[in-house]
Amino acid sequence: MQTHDLTTRRMTATARGIGVMCDFYAVRADNATLWDHHGKEYIDFAGGIAVLNTGHRHPRIMAAIAAQLDSFTHTAYQIVPYESYIHLAERINRLAPIDGPGKSAFFTTGAEAVENAIKIARSHTGRSGVIAFTGGFHGRTHMGMALTGKVAPYKASFGTLPGEIYHAPFPSGTEGVSVADTLRSLDFLFKADIGPERVAAIVIEPVQGEGGFNIAPPELMRALRRICDEHGIILIADEIQTAFGRTGKMFAMEHHTVQPDLITIAKSLAGGMPLSGVVGRAEIMDAPAPGGLGGTYAGNPLAIAAAHAVLDVIDEQGLCARSTKLGALLQNRLLQLKNACPYIAEVRGLGSMVALELRDPASGAPSLTA
Ligand code: PMP
Repeated sequence: MQTHDLTTRRMTATARGIGVMCDFYAVRADNATLWDHHGKEYIDFAGGIAVLNTGHRHPRIMAAIAAQLDSFTHTAYQIVPYESYIHLAERINRLAPIDGPGKSAFFTTGAEAVENAIKIARSHTGRSGVIAFTGGFHGRTHMGMALTGKVAPYKASFGTLPGEIYHAPFPSGTEGVSVADTLRSLDFLFKADIGPERVAAIVIEPVQGEGGFNIAPPELMRALRRICDEHGIILIADEIQTAFGRTGKMFAMEHHTVQPDLITIAKSLAGGMPLSGVVGRAEIMDAPAPGGLGGTYAGNPLAIAAAHAVLDVIDEQGLCARSTKLGALLQNRLLQLKNACPYIAEVRGLGSMVALELRDPASGAPSLTA
């Protein structure tokens, strides 16, 4: 099969809005390697957008999915439940950096987890306002899109967005935004647009993923916790991209001294199977009435089986420590490069979530804007 034939068929048959980055087509994958139609080998630096912390087709995960295939593939958990879902909730509740009784609910995509976290926070507080941050990414559904702090390409042309969503600037050295700037803008927001007593939730990525691996400073997280405690606001950590070893800890919030109330999870949770979830303080998680949460495929048994194996592999193979080690190696190497290349404005990272930012050294302008 010729690649250009496939590209012609793709352009003819599939929607333009699904922008495709690579000009080859996957036929096989193993650990960190992909192969195309011509047998050409590629190192997979994308990992399916941060989904494959345990690599492609890890044998333990494949065996778990195969075993589940032999039992059943779907019942819809909310119609006929199964033990593996409950057991995964117990494991995630234990692992999540949230003290006290915890509960979990599972869904399918990251955006769906974010949607449900907002539903839970709104239901618990009886309020509707939500504050997110510039540069943040929270998904492509209507609520995900509204929360995402980037207009192009995510919000362009998609009409009216859900209301009561506000953005504060995320701190950034290269953009010249300090934690004090962020907190002052929250103050302005509370004075100009929405009183804190009408805010249900503040949603933040501990390390912004799509936004460029910007790390939330500990003093920002502490200040957000204080504001949330003062005003009865739910603090939601969107860990869809940062959890399961990516930053050198199981959850990135473990780097902080304060805890969120809810955490959204997805991506590397199930090693390539579609699974997401919300974990949080039990009394908040229990706010929606039975039937208010769920979905036909939410917590699919094949994906749940994969997630159990992912948690085993991360633990048994010490992948959090490995993430820290590989991240440090990469950061050191990139810092050496920075000394030699004036276009590298900053090297930053937490665990293996490492970025270098390119800017024109004369003007300070970003070399590439998305
Ligand atoms: N939140 C964050 C932090 C993400 O990185 C992503 C995906 N890039 C999402 C939400 C949305 O996840 P999904 O694409 O699975 O809907």
